[in-house]
Amino acid sequence: MPAIAPGSLVLVTGASGYIAAHAVEAFLDAGFPVRGTVRSKGKGEYLVNLFKDKKAKFEYAIVKDIAEDGAFDEAVKGVVGVAHMASPYHFNAVEPDELFIPAKKGTLGVLNSLKKFNPDVKRVVVTSSVAAIMSTDITPPHTFTEADWNPVSLKVCAEKGRDADGANKYRASKTLAEQAFWKFFEDEKPAFDGAAINPPLVLGPIIQECDTPESLNTSVATFFDWMTGKKTEKDLPGAGGNYVDVRDCALAHVRALTTPEASGERFITGNGAFSSNDYVISIAKTCPDLPVPKGNEDPAYRKKLIDDNNHFDGSKATRVLGIKYRSQDETFADMAKSLRARFNV
Ligand code: NAP
Repeated sequence: MPAIAPGSLVLVTGASGYIAAHAVEAFLDAGFPVRGTVRSKGKGEYLVNLFKDKKAKFEYAIVKDIAEDGAFDEAVKGVVGVAHMASPYHFNAVEPDELFIPAKKGTLGVLNSLKKFNPDVKRVVVTSSVAAIMSTDITPPHTFTEADWNPVSLKVCAEKGRDADGANKYRASKTLAEQAFWKFFEDEKPAFDGAAINPPLVLGPIIQECDTPESLNTSVATFFDWMTGKKTEKDLPGAGGNYVDVRDCALAHVRALTTPEASGERFITGNGAFSSNDYVISIAKTCPDLPVPKGNEDPAYRKKLIDDNNHFDGSKATRVLGIKYRSQDETFADMAKSLRARFNV
């Protein structure tokens, strides 16, 4: 199946989001004009202004709710590639359907609108997650690959319903959405093809509209809590996980649409594990005036925290998509600087 060629119009759904705003920038920088879907005129105009100096053009279309029938019927017209990134990402859902419906219906909605209204589209990349890959039933350290599917979260949600924990509700929503994505290709055999990007925690600088710390996206908020003193010594060493720089994740979406070999493939985009100890060490270096707890810089201690984690193997994205991951130091320092500039901490 052909991938898309430079100069073709790309649709990015949920363009006002943290990762999507970077993806829009990455597409524009690679010479692709972009149409972004946003929920309001205000969110669209913010992006028009943000990208006003780019050579390639940004335009927006309003899609108030990705779960509505036919939500994408207009927005898909005339585009050659799609990055479907809009989906709720938080752990506060009460009913699982608060996440399940937009995640699954949004994904199928884009695909069905393309099938009906766009005979020329070549490829769709969906932003899935390691949430659709991981298993909490496996004792760390364990390395997951693209061959794995989350066997736990859908079961937990089926058994416990609204009493399931927020993380499993979110992980189940991503599993459902990605399963539905691949099933669409199997069942419908459309003229276009697909690829999935499966990032772990996405970190790095913010460029999206975000006026208050309370409205920060979920992944960056985990870091900001250390900058403001909400998290303290007693929270160390704290939960870590695996991470990727938002700019590397954004570029992976561009490459997934432009690399012929990405057809039908999933890509973990991850640069390995980290711990909250790494967060505080980075913040102390980048913003030495902030009263963050003192981290433990002993290399053996830092390595043990990382080795004790589960791991997601991000090497296929390097091999096939040519993604060279930025260092953790660069990602965390740039994130701290951008949050300081935005919120004056
Ligand atoms: P985000 O900043 O919260 O962006 C989510 C986007 O989806 C926003 O533009 C939001 O619009 C839009 N959206 C959500 N529900 C919608 C609905 N019902 N109708 C219309 N638009 C809706 O989150 P993000 O971190 O960039 O996440 C983007 C994608 O990456 C999601 O699919 C998420 O699951 C996935 N992901 C994120 C991470 C991470 O660590 N950040 C890791 C793995 C995968 P509003 O802003 O107007 O609400």
